[in-house]
Amino acid sequence: MAKKTVEDVDLKGKKVLVRADFNVPVKDGAITDDTRIKAALPTIKYVSQHGGKAILFSHLGRVKTEEDKEGKSLAPVADRLGELLDRNVTFVPETRGEKLEQAIDNLQNGEIVVFENTRFEDIEGKKESKNDPELGKYWASLGDVFVNDAFGTAHRSHASNVGIASTGIPTVAGFLMEKEIEFIGEAVDNPKRPMVAILGGAKVSDKIGVIENLIEKADKILIGGGMTYTFYKAKGEDIGNSMVEEDKVDLAKSLIEKAGDKLVLPVDSVTAKEFSNDVATETYEGAIPEGQMGLDIGPKTVENFSNILKDAKTVVWNGPMGVFEMSNFAKGTIGVCEAIASLQDATTIIGGGDSAAAAESLGFADKFTHISTGGGASLELLEGKALPGLAAINDK
Ligand code: ADP
Ligand code: MG
Repeated sequence: MAKKTVEDVDLKGKKVLVRADFNVPVKDGAITDDTRIKAALPTIKYVSQHGGKAILFSHLGRVKTEEDKEGKSLAPVADRLGELLDRNVTFVPETRGEKLEQAIDNLQNGEIVVFENTRFEDIEGKKESKNDPELGKYWASLGDVFVNDAFGTAHRSHASNVGIASTGIPTVAGFLMEKEIEFIGEAVDNPKRPMVAILGGAKVSDKIGVIENLIEKADKILIGGGMTYTFYKAKGEDIGNSMVEEDKVDLAKSLIEKAGDKLVLPVDSVTAKEFSNDVATETYEGAIPEGQMGLDIGPKTVENFSNILKDAKTVVWNGPMGVFEMSNFAKGTIGVCEAIASLQDATTIIGGGDSAAAAESLGFADKFTHISTGGGASLELLEGKALPGLAAINDK
């Protein structure tokens, strides 16, 4: 990676600002999934072990009003972090001011403080989310070095990432950021070939940028999920009651033309009369009759996709093959996961929140080389866009 990382700077005795991604789900004051906190540990440990005074912060959820603050404090995150590290982590319930500055002044080398949700600054004008320069400058003034490890927000230009960095404070990537860029960036820009992209999920409209970019980069693009039927419609195939985006049919047509035989559509679908796990399912090759909706790719498609995947050296997967949340329509996604899991020496990557959730819930998470932690940010990387949070990190 051409960006400086936490390993390229001297941390000893330095006040080290660490923008982490602690945007975890919280219910009734308890964290329901601490994956993101765990993903931040390598950087936090490294800073602490190298004698840095770690000042950690993150956003959590959206905060627009005073009432929104309820349940959005980083206090439970600081507690959980203390448990995971088995050490004292000080929490300061402020985003600025004397208390925070005191706590930072009191830090000994290797000690850790967490301050409050950066989006608490969004209540009177979106200071954090609109990258108010005064706020970025203030936060930058609290430290000597800035470590940006929040890949999940790298596609946003906020005060807590771009704002701090643009003051000129030395800015480096944390390990999570580094890993994300390395895997997704490499897979897209410099893949081992053949590279196969698998794109699914609900809508074409969410994935236009990804499809367009990957048509250029991949050797094959396998389409599944709800977006299949917009492509079917573009080919003049009957789709029954399947989901379709009428206003994207022309775009689908031009993508089919542009991609030629790179683009592989499902040859069969598992359907039902209703969007429900409690009604009978049918399987149709090609056209879907009136009254039925396509909710998963069918067994012949799974076989087809598996055959194509056999030779792949790079696999990028974004978007489930069907409504995997319902067991009747999970087989396509499971089948594709199995095909990917059996690959011996391929780099296999998942970008996309629901695809990651699918791999987790279906038990395949450990079979992938890399599962991105950033939904939106990984999508934008797959689209080939420059991420402002990443661009603001110093080059090597
Ligand atoms: P990701 O978060 O990985 O980018 P998306 O958000 O694009 O994925 O899509 C995930 C959703 O798409 C899932 O909730 C899934 O139920 C839905 N989906 C997949 N196939 C279909 C289909 N044939 N019809 C309707 N919804 C579908
Ligand atoms: Mg999604």
